[in-house]
Amino acid sequence: MKSFVHFNTRSVDEAIHLLKKYEGKAKINAGGTDLLGVLKDRILPEYPEAIINIKTIPGLSMIEDGEEKILIGALTTLADIINSSLIEKTFPLLKEAALSVASPQIRNVATIGGNLCQDTRCWYYRYPDGIGGRINCFRKGGKTCPAVSGENQYHAVIGAKKCYAVCPSDLAVALTALGANLTIAGQKGVRTIPVEEFYHPLGNTLSPDEMITAIHIPKPFPVARQTFHKFTLRKPIDFAVVSVSSLIFLDQEICTSSRIVLGAVASAPFRAYKAEEFLKEKKLSAKTAEEAARLALDGSKPLAKNAYKVEIAKTLVKRAVQGTE
Ligand SMILES: Cc1cc2nc3c(=O)[nH]c(=O)nc-3n(C[C@H](O)[C@H](O)[C@H](O)COP(=O)(O)OP(=O)(O)OC[C@H]3O[C@@H](n4cnc5c(N)ncnc54)[C@H](O)[C@@H]3O)c2cc1C
Repeated sequence: MKSFVHFNTRSVDEAIHLLKKYEGKAKINAGGTDLLGVLKDRILPEYPEAIINIKTIPGLSMIEDGEEKILIGALTTLADIINSSLIEKTFPLLKEAALSVASPQIRNVATIGGNLCQDTRCWYYRYPDGIGGRINCFRKGGKTCPAVSGENQYHAVIGAKKCYAVCPSDLAVALTALGANLTIAGQKGVRTIPVEEFYHPLGNTLSPDEMITAIHIPKPFPVARQTFHKFTLRKPIDFAVVSVSSLIFLDQEICTSSRIVLGAVASAPFRAYKAEEFLKEKKLSAKTAEEAARLALDGSKPLAKNAYKVEIAKTLVKRAVQGTE
């Protein structure tokens, strides 16, 4: 690791003041489960001068029940989400997504805010300086994405143009399906943004002086069937090859509306709008599930080694629509 200045902050205002002062040369540290590895391997395009610890800010770790929504503080750990009876009852999908992340030790420290802002796992981007020098990929300011003609087994199959890295966050996929919003505090004040609009092809929309303070999830009225499916190569700990989070609103067997979101197929959670539109007012059956799966992946453009992801994604969408494991 290189040396940096370290601050234990006591308030959101103090953290924002420091972020502003360092003008993009500071990083927030929450649980540190992603950031510390990133710092050790010198992965970031520019090494930060300052690390701003936000775990010392009181009040950012909580789960609060409101009339129409549930509020989760940015410092709430994944373990707290998993152990919350309120989350289990209201958003089982979110619990399942959190439970699928890493190991119990990591989930005990990893925060929901950090999960949403974690860096991509693309192996070209993450190639450590220490074992042969950095790979200057498009995301790091280079001209091309080496995955396009290289080892692209885990890369994007939908919508990528210059960088084929995928968003690794399982919670982002679940929260997009749940229609959650983020509260973001910055030098200019507080803003709210849907999780669905938080990501862009090279990361997220946070300005250098901003941080997430909370996540709001509207309660699903009327009651919806919630599912989270994740395909991984290693069962005990692994990032998704593909995941699907879904909310299916049902009247008897008729789908009145749905939200179907695919993970690890694009630079952001991918909302399968065409499938959602198709399912409206349809009776759910194997046939409708098949067509919804086809439409969900319509327009996908896999690379040489990742066409298998499209087939896996279709299978998971079918399971989501039919409510099967
Ligand atoms: C072995 C292993 C397996 C994993 N498997 C999975 C998996 O299957 N699925 C999955 O989704 N994730 C997985 N992860 C990633 C893990 O979930 C993240 O490392 C963790 O959630 C990050 O949370 P943190 O609090 O430790 O964040 P940190 O490491 O502290 O921060 C991560 C990033 O987010 C930024 N940040 C943190 N909090 C905020 C905030 N409030 N506002 C703005 N920026 C912020 C930091 O500056 C940093 O850039 C895995 C990690 C490991 C090490």
